Amino acid sequence: MSGPEAPILRPEQALAELIAGNHRFVTGTPSHPNQDAGHRAALADEQHPFAVIVGCSDSRLAAEIIFDRGLGDLFVVRTAGHTTGPEVLGSVEYAVTVLNAPLVVVLGHDSCGAVRAARESLATGTQPPGHLDAVVDAVLPSLRRAEAEGVDDLGRIIDIHIAQTVEALLDNSAVLAAEVAAGRCAVVGMSYRLAAGEVHQVAGEISAAAGSDPAPAASLG
Ligand SMILES: [Zn+2]
Repeated sequence: MSGPEAPILRPEQALAELIAGNHRFVTGTPSHPNQDAGHRAALADEQHPFAVIVGCSDSRLAAEIIFDRGLGDLFVVRTAGHTTGPEVLGSVEYAVTVLNAPLVVVLGHDSCGAVRAARESLATGTQPPGHLDAVVDAVLPSLRRAEAEGVDDLGRIIDIHIAQTVEALLDNSAVLAAEVAAGRCAVVGMSYRLAAGEVHQVAGEISAAAGSDPAPAASLG
């Protein structure tokens, strides 16, 4: 359950729920929790999502589907290439401090078009038209980091971009960093495989400080 009466999970419990849901999705045994009319009505007055997803907008990366969750479970912020401008930071801070979400997941994926576009822009020295340049510019620091580390494989570059995004969230949001330092929240990075449907954690960790305020183990249904 994730209605108004649901307990706040510890970060590692929230991560376990996401991994369990992804396993159901991968194995073709989804339970589609929290998608019924009764749950919809129970959530009308308030929400307590147990995770924030900062994901790529890619149409194949629908968070509630790949984690087999429903209404009120996930607070989802998506941009092409999971870039983290001020509106994204503000949205994450809202979910963590006002809604008390205990986990933030940066969700990237293989074959990411935003990373490919940024690579192409860097290789050719050309800027994309319109506002696409904002997406490319936001990915460039990850490409420079990959270059400095001698990484040329697109899959590994994408993992670096996910890790870079985790660090950017913590570096640019003192509010989020404070919540993490207090053990009330954690930030991790996950990479999704389009064909297999699996997520793999590639960045971030849940510190030992997390869980200093024990909550009962809970099933989210
Ligand atoms: Zn993408």
